[in-house]
Amino acid sequence: MKTEYTGGEVVFTIEQPRESYRCPACGSGDVIGRGQQRRRFRTVPIGGKPVYLALAVPRVECRRCGAVRQVKIGFADSRVSYARSFQQYALELSRYMTIQDVAEHLGISWDVIKEIQKANLQRRFGRPKLKHLRQIAIDEISTAKGHRYLTIVLDLETGAVVHVGRGKGGEALADFWTRLRRSGAKIEAVAADMSPAYMSAVMEHLPKATLVFDRFHVIKLYNDKLSDLRRELYRTAKDGLEKEVLKGSRWLLLKRPENLDPSRKEPERLREALQLNEPLAMAYYLKEELNEIWEQDDEEAAQALLMDWITYAESTGIRMLHQFARSLRFHARGILAYYDYPISTGPLEGTNNKIKTMKRQAYGFRDTEFLKLKILGIHETKYALVG
Ligand SMILES: [Zn+2]
Repeated sequence: MKTEYTGGEVVFTIEQPRESYRCPACGSGDVIGRGQQRRRFRTVPIGGKPVYLALAVPRVECRRCGAVRQVKIGFADSRVSYARSFQQYALELSRYMTIQDVAEHLGISWDVIKEIQKANLQRRFGRPKLKHLRQIAIDEISTAKGHRYLTIVLDLETGAVVHVGRGKGGEALADFWTRLRRSGAKIEAVAADMSPAYMSAVMEHLPKATLVFDRFHVIKLYNDKLSDLRRELYRTAKDGLEKEVLKGSRWLLLKRPENLDPSRKEPERLREALQLNEPLAMAYYLKEELNEIWEQDDEEAAQALLMDWITYAESTGIRMLHQFARSLRFHARGILAYYDYPISTGPLEGTNNKIKTMKRQAYGFRDTEFLKLKILGIHETKYALVG
């Protein structure tokens, strides 16, 4: 072995002993030399200096299978220009630094570090095991300010992301259903929102599973409708004072009553708005009642409450309430299924927040495949440090 120090670099020139030549295709030692190619591989730096292993990689022709190829190199994958030890070192640094920092520290391009990370993520998380899945949550998250969507499936028992699909709706799950079927997993319950796409997908692919509609999505949907109603009432109000009061009630309506701030007269302001406007008062009352559906001792009590809710909403003659009641009637089974499986898409919310943090700190997520792999590994990532 020869060692050279030139231009701040350290180069170790090494040779592969002739007797160790083997055919990389079939492993036979019965080979003939067919020239060689000089290659350099980055390895772990010494004292801050970049270190290379220089090697004339022999090409051999195999007498057994006829292949003519470069022999395998013990310390590196044949397609890359760095040793496995360098790869390990870069990954170790990646736990504490951004890609940019690691690249600068090692004096190598950003792309090489990203590729090292990507290959590692692919190996560890590229093919999540689905066999043991029992309870899952499905939801979509928006990336790039609502222009792009990813659909995420979470294992509710382990908290691991088991699928990341491009887009939203049924298509984003197609590949998941295929892998799930092959795995032979027996899914008992699925938490999702009330979107028709998830309903039909679950009915088609998991006919034996219980679909549980996520309570927070139901409440959010109602809050959106309540806001629409307030806006409509504001638009049609004739009286100036009523308009003013309706305008000021915008955020108060969406707050839980226990969160109203007395120092800012929020309870009074809300009461005033509700007294002035009967439809708004009814819709607000029903918002509070809606929450109670998930707070009962058993399914029977919850069902009674749900039916009361629907009957009352339909009797108000308010179109928005009528429509929401119809939707609840249609989705009643999946709402009450909460009492069989008290699951929600809530844990996905946490994953979503981690993804947002990760995206804020990181570049390179224009490579959707890299982003997908990062998300699949997110439960094991110290997300504050990746990049
Ligand atoms: Zn061979």
